[in-house]
Amino acid sequence: MNVSSPFSLRILVAGGAGFLGSHLCERLLWEGHEVTCVDNFHTGSLRNVAHLLDHERFRLLRHDITEPLQVEADRIYNLACPAAPPHYQADPVRTLRTCLLGAINLLELAAKQDARFLQASTSEVYGDPLEHPQRESYWGHVNPVGPRACYDEGKRCAETLVTEHARKYGFQARIARIFNTYGPRMSSQDGRVVSNFIVQALAGQPLTIYGDGTQTRSFCYVDDMIEGLVRLMEVPGELPGPVNLGNPTELTMLEIGALIQELAGSRCALAFRDRPADDPVQRKPDIGRARQYLGWTPAIGVREGLSRTVAYFESQRAVPREPGPPDAQLGVVLAARLPHAPEPESLQYGRG
Ligand code: NAD
Ligand code: UDP
Repeated sequence: MNVSSPFSLRILVAGGAGFLGSHLCERLLWEGHEVTCVDNFHTGSLRNVAHLLDHERFRLLRHDITEPLQVEADRIYNLACPAAPPHYQADPVRTLRTCLLGAINLLELAAKQDARFLQASTSEVYGDPLEHPQRESYWGHVNPVGPRACYDEGKRCAETLVTEHARKYGFQARIARIFNTYGPRMSSQDGRVVSNFIVQALAGQPLTIYGDGTQTRSFCYVDDMIEGLVRLMEVPGELPGPVNLGNPTELTMLEIGALIQELAGSRCALAFRDRPADDPVQRKPDIGRARQYLGWTPAIGVREGLSRTVAYFESQRAVPREPGPPDAQLGVVLAARLPHAPEPESLQYGRG
């Protein structure tokens, strides 16, 4: 099913310098659209979009979405939010501000321009789920005062904000509940299981297993996820509500660790660590709704996706790095080309 728009649209991608956002910007440019990437580089990186800066239909705006913004757009994708637990837990109030004030600012922009809106929500809205696999009709099992709450509750409230703004102002809005996604351009330092295990396996170090490693996740390759997001944005007609996007193949952490070791040619021991509080025991999407309404199903298996990701991390190890913060020098080169929106915080490069 081809649901891409045949017209050249003006598309705003908030969080466009992040892992998923940079792949999305690339895909939308490839389809012929004008893309404005809005990012404050809190967890994203100039490196992720450096190759797009000379593209005539690409614009990069350094801006924190907790402040209002004016950008002309027919479509707005809101991906701006730290996504890895160590990142979103580092400053929980900042995470909540991004989820809530950020969503409100972008939704007001959508309402003014009658732009179509897509919110990057998350499987974390199901918390530590008591229903398995998770269907969109499940309301979840979230600890509202636990260490993951700033993200889980922020994303849950953002879903409400999207729904109520769309109802009140009459614009089209879509909610993607994204399950664990991996692939090239994941940060090697974000503390997520796939990046940790690949970095450790390539360095010949033991894999850090939190708990006994029997907890499960379902891992989707980035290209499949981007296809799902674009289809969800562009599919015509009404949808019954949020849509799960993820790969239903479910693995324990021990299983994914063994697979990554095999692909990286590593045979190191395992290092068992305490399990983080409120870490979900199991997670697997029911993607019946995405199949029915978007004709979407993941095409890239976990072995193939992980082998591409291991190759990417290997290639990054081979790139010689100049001394200093990873993006500082790139920033000097690119600063002149960055349009500045009014923003409350000073210029930042690299990870927050
Ligand atoms: P990421 O951290 O790589 O990207 C997020 C981007 O948002 C970064 O570039 C960051 O600098 C930017 N950002 C953060 N706060 C901002 C703010 N206040 N103003 C402007 N920009 C801001 O994460 P990702 O993995 O690419 O995730 C993208 C989106 O998808 C997030 O909303 C995340 O919650 C959602 N998601 C991702 C996954 C996954 O497995 N990757 C799973 C579920 C949901
Ligand atoms: N995890 C692990 N070792 C690591 C990093 C994570 O065993 O080095 C576990 C973590 O406890 C969780 C699972 O892997 O059960 C997925 O963690 P991640 O942070 O990637 O995603 P999320 O918990 O947000 O789904």
